[in-house]
Amino acid sequence: MCALTWQGKNHVAMRTVPQPTLLEPTDVILRVTGSTVCGSDLHLLHGVVIELSPGDILGHEFCGVVDAVGSAVKNVGAGDRVVASFQIACGECWYCERKLSSQCERTSGNRAQRTMYGGRTAGIFGYSHFTGGFAGGQAEYVRVPLGDVNLLKLPDDVPDEKGLYLSDVLCTAWHAVVDTGVTKDDVVAIWGAGPIGQMSADFAFHHGAARVILIDRNWRLAFCQSQQPRLETLNYAELPAGTSVTERLKEMTGGRGPDVGLECVAGEYAKGWVHAVEMAVGAETDSSEVLNEMITSVRNYGRVGVTGVYVGFTNHFNIGSLMERGIRLIGNGQAPVHKYWEELLEKVRSGEIDPLRMVTHRVRVEDLDKVYGQFEKKADGMQKVFAET
Ligand code: NAD
Ligand code: ZN
Ligand code: ZN
Repeated sequence: MCALTWQGKNHVAMRTVPQPTLLEPTDVILRVTGSTVCGSDLHLLHGVVIELSPGDILGHEFCGVVDAVGSAVKNVGAGDRVVASFQIACGECWYCERKLSSQCERTSGNRAQRTMYGGRTAGIFGYSHFTGGFAGGQAEYVRVPLGDVNLLKLPDDVPDEKGLYLSDVLCTAWHAVVDTGVTKDDVVAIWGAGPIGQMSADFAFHHGAARVILIDRNWRLAFCQSQQPRLETLNYAELPAGTSVTERLKEMTGGRGPDVGLECVAGEYAKGWVHAVEMAVGAETDSSEVLNEMITSVRNYGRVGVTGVYVGFTNHFNIGSLMERGIRLIGNGQAPVHKYWEELLEKVRSGEIDPLRMVTHRVRVEDLDKVYGQFEKKADGMQKVFAET
């Protein structure tokens, strides 16, 4: 079968690889019908997420048709249309019982992860050996461990190109808003106008935000605003010389600052960010340190939620502002998909949520290697892609 493989820093390629087989009685083999590329895949591309080996199959957002099931699988059967959760959860441990499936204790990453973080987090498809070394779904077939837990059936009236995004984006953006505590009348500032930022903006309004200000530097601001006219935008590349994002946000909010800041960027873009291990900083570095910018921008006792993926350590951190002004800094974690996906499926089904708002490109799975470059450069108006198999 064909699959998108990591070949080294800044190099991914389609390769012919062996088809996966059932290894455990709880496994499901899925014939993938839809997949996509996420901002998190770019961290793998750049080698920021460590513990990758050449040939590893990437892809953590995918849907498909059940091809084969192990003897212990009860909830799904051959021919069922399903979407997979990007994280692999057991459904039974202390965290899974509390629907915090991204922290599952039984499917977790490797020793390096536990040493660096002081704790384990759930396995993730196509996301390096740091998070378990599970093969991903940017491929024709994928093995889904614990299929009863990690697959959600899609009803006939939810097509693949809508159901796919329950894997990650929709649950992640919803979690960012809920976990950071966005409530009625909040002024919310969102850093990053990619798919996660765009959906977080929609969901902040959904949770009663009075105003949402989206911050980025490119065409994505106009794209998001064209679909969500209530959205206000701040293009930091167009600020007058000597004006910071923090100053501009204070001006826009009567001097006080937003109640909430959501980090939907990507760790390696932030200048001053230093990895625990040797790393290549992405091609683009910005004039802003996103986290410090968020801390100084929100009002006193404001909340800052971090959904953008940081790996390892950061230095030059404005702990003084955090302490004196009572800033609540919240690590949102990888979003616990299982907590939200049934509720969000119903919202997609009823039309209350429309994931197609972010989908700008449709490609064949064989062309995914080219998509990585396009998505990385934010080129050709690419917000989110649907890759059909
Ligand atoms: P993306 O790469 O498409 O978008 C990131 C955006 O941030 C880009 O438009 C870029 O121009 C913008 N940006 C760069 N520097 C900036 C700055 N200084 N200020 C404001 N904006 C800036 O990524 P995405 O798919 O939307 O994902 C966003 C982040 O969320 C990534 O870090 C991704 O890894 C992470 N993520 C987390 C989870 C989770 O469960 N926690 C799930 C999915 C994605
Ligand atoms: Zn993702
Ligand atoms: Zn578990």
